[in-house]
Amino acid sequence: MKNQTVLITGAASGIGLEIALAFLKQEANVAVIDFNQDALDKMSRNLEDFSAQLCFLQSDVSDEKVFEAAIDKAIERFGQVDILINNAGMQHVALIEDFPTERYRQLIDIMLVAPFIAIKKLMPSMKAQGFGRIINMASVNGLLGFSGKAGYNSAKHGVIGLTKVAALESAPFGVTVNALCPGYVDTPLIHNQLEDLAKTRGIAVEDVMEEVMWSKVPQKRLLDVSEISDYCLYLASPSAKGITGQAVVIDGGYTCQ
Ligand code: NAD
Repeated sequence: MKNQTVLITGAASGIGLEIALAFLKQEANVAVIDFNQDALDKMSRNLEDFSAQLCFLQSDVSDEKVFEAAIDKAIERFGQVDILINNAGMQHVALIEDFPTERYRQLIDIMLVAPFIAIKKLMPSMKAQGFGRIINMASVNGLLGFSGKAGYNSAKHGVIGLTKVAALESAPFGVTVNALCPGYVDTPLIHNQLEDLAKTRGIAVEDVMEEVMWSKVPQKRLLDVSEISDYCLYLASPSAKGITGQAVVIDGGYTCQ
């Protein structure tokens, strides 16, 4: 990955952070975009050894102008973005009748409109150089319905559609576009979701684990973040050049039943 630049949104925590580490270890340049300044500062302190390969950009991806300015800064710093990973995400759990419309719009902006904006901005240079890799972080929530997750599910279904269109439009130019659909991964997001679900149902977090997860996940475990970052490295590698327009599922068997 030497001389390759990867731009990752939502990279100051969880899956995004692990993906950043994986690419840094492969000697790639990494532009980290996140709106959490404290988490960015912590990451910067912890990764001092990699400072020559890193740039940290505080930005809210749901604000088009601010997000575009951050992408411009990444290009200014590294000259080009070769690999784009649209990973920033957030949850809100509520029944549709209790779901604030503004919150619904916000989730769509973060997980569907922001990937569109980044692809729109970076696709021309990827096509022009005859190489590009785009990975959109979807979810099994992009394939199945889940009660209480109207905003998240709509965004994740949508980003799989966006992936297919972007893949078709870029296929002749050496660019691949894929979506990853993880099941339950051990990150702060999933622990927050468990607490929200426990509150909504009025039961303990352990009971949610049993009822919502283990009854449905044949492997009966949370996935490790490295299982997702390893797959991102693979999709960015030359061996994966024939894979495009796919929604790749990594879910411990969740969707096979
Ligand atoms: P996380 O909460 O640990 O990390 C998400 C990051 O995105 C945070 O650093 C947060 O600050 C950032 N972010 C959120 N909104 C932002 C915004 N508007 N602008 C900039 N940054 C923003 O969550 P995670 O579990 O690592 O999730 C990463 C991605 O993986 C998300 O898209 C999520 O939907 C997806 N995913 C997660 C799971 C899981 O089980 N954890 C499963 C399937 C898909």
